[in-house]
Amino acid sequence: MTQPILQTTIVGSLPKPVWLAEAEKLWAPWKLEGETLAEGKRDAVRLVLRDQENAGIDIVSDGEQTRRHFVTTFIEHLQGVDFGQIRRVRIRDRYDADVPVVVGPIARQQPVYVEDARFLRAETTRPVKFTLPGPLTMVDTLYDDHYHSREKLAWEFARILNEEARELAAAGVDVIQFDEPAFNVFFDEVRTWGIQTLERAAEGLPCKTAVHICYGYGIKANNDWKQTLGAEWRQYEETFPLLQASAIDQVSLECHNSHVPIELIGLLEGKDVLVGAIDVATDRVETPEEVAATIRSALNYVAPEKLYPCTNCGMVPLTREVARRKLRALTAGVALVRKELGAS
Ligand code: ZN
Repeated sequence: MTQPILQTTIVGSLPKPVWLAEAEKLWAPWKLEGETLAEGKRDAVRLVLRDQENAGIDIVSDGEQTRRHFVTTFIEHLQGVDFGQIRRVRIRDRYDADVPVVVGPIARQQPVYVEDARFLRAETTRPVKFTLPGPLTMVDTLYDDHYHSREKLAWEFARILNEEARELAAAGVDVIQFDEPAFNVFFDEVRTWGIQTLERAAEGLPCKTAVHICYGYGIKANNDWKQTLGAEWRQYEETFPLLQASAIDQVSLECHNSHVPIELIGLLEGKDVLVGAIDVATDRVETPEEVAATIRSALNYVAPEKLYPCTNCGMVPLTREVARRKLRALTAGVALVRKELGAS
């Protein structure tokens, strides 16, 4: 079967069932323990797979049902990080969070998500995407009391992420996406070592590689910050040429209700572009026509076989019902455009 053009996918997270973790909350604690928690996570993955499949999403994910947070859950599994010590740091120059402390050399003694990836692979016949945090964003989400250098620590994380990513790919994952929201804040670091450490994390992978850069979930600190960015968000003008020249295959960004001038995606020539057509910062569900309009405007700059309609960001802050309806809006909007292109 040939793959359709405008293949749909999601950035990563989906809301968790209320019996697993409190809804509409980042870093929500688990409600189950031990083997019951492990089984609960697997059941939650099955449910989000069915939701994505029922909505007609082409490239599916585990909705990050097995992790409390997209960065700290990965870090929790590494040696050299002390979760007994918590320090308050300012994340992305924007909001304070209590984070663990790096106390010694970082090492990955065993796989973190590889079992989860095998389970995901076994539970669906569709292509699967798996997300990992990117090195710069990891460095920005903890307190370093050992390396005393963000760059040095980022290279260590890149090496560890690459070990993990190679095993995820071997488990049958089709796309590995690194989440780098910090790319929109620390431009000097992106230029001097952020892209290089990202490429190191993705080095030698047999699957597609992606990076998600964004202006953050719809939480208050992010929404307040967005108010300060002016009418046009041109930050990507600096980042896109660097990503275009990088070895990463795909770039994911928010486009719907965003102030990013859509023509900037023209700077990503040759890359697959994951066009965010669903706003995750509002409960209002997009109409199919709104989704179609976003895709059409992106098609002026990206060929249909390189354009992947997607969500703006993770959907974890939404309710499950709203998330399901938004997934359906995404595929309904894409169906309109496929039809126009004679590809339905
Ligand atoms: Zn995002």
